[in-house]
Amino acid sequence: MNYFKRKFIILLYHKIGDYPENAKFPGLYVSEKNFDKQIKYLKNKGYVFLTLSEMKQLYDNEYCSEPINANSDLGTQNDNEYCSKPINANSDLGAQNFAADAVKNEKKKFVSITFDDGSRSIYTKGLEIIKKNNVNATVFMVSDLIGGVNVWDIKNGELKDEMLKQDELLEMIKAGIEIGAHTRTHPHLTMIPEENANKEIADSKKILEEQLNININFFAYPYGDYNESVKKLVEKAGFEGAVITKTGIVKRDADFFALRRVAIRHNTDFFKFKRKIFKVKYFY
Ligand SMILES: [Zn+2]
Repeated sequence: MNYFKRKFIILLYHKIGDYPENAKFPGLYVSEKNFDKQIKYLKNKGYVFLTLSEMKQLYDNEYCSEPINANSDLGTQNDNEYCSKPINANSDLGAQNFAADAVKNEKKKFVSITFDDGSRSIYTKGLEIIKKNNVNATVFMVSDLIGGVNVWDIKNGELKDEMLKQDELLEMIKAGIEIGAHTRTHPHLTMIPEENANKEIADSKKILEEQLNININFFAYPYGDYNESVKKLVEKAGFEGAVITKTGIVKRDADFFALRRVAIRHNTDFFKFKRKIFKVKYFY
């Protein structure tokens, strides 16, 4: 029952929808049609969709404690310092019997959809596709911009884009979507004083936990910008893990505070998508 012999793919998305003609970073958009097609392809290939906390739980069950069996309850305690405590699922749906299902069907492959930033398009355009396909996702929200706009991107010359509102985040949590933190204001964490970086990281967790009344377990480094000291701050803040933007896959020796992903962009057509999945599966 070596789930992580079979590797775990984390996909990186930002916004759902067609990109506006004058967008500075069109790569951040993925059309509804492509998003839907990509999910359907993975489902047809037998992939099980997990949130990152579910993935961590599966990993811990595999490597950090006695293997679970399909009939046991999901939480298993362990003493290994590299392993985390059992995850508190964010939603009613979070505890869906994913681990039991995974055990029952050893051949299953695992994938996780992640969105960085918290664009409102995830709610207005993505959620219906996620629900329709009966999958889940993890959304990394910039905590101080709930109900606001993408101010950091506007400074970089991007068009204005609305961010998720609190009630929309709550509705998505109910639909089984996990929320992670993406700092308070989206800075380059290695380019600001450590004290400020610490506040950006630790406070974004606290703010989201208070506003949404859930546990925030995962973190995404803005611009994928991190170093060893930033990583330590994330760990110290109480996160279970963090994702980066470098290409790769999660396997047994994964660094949980620098989890690699597969970036999907506006020009990732169906052929390119399939090639990306194939490449990370067999060459990383
Ligand atoms: Zn970002």
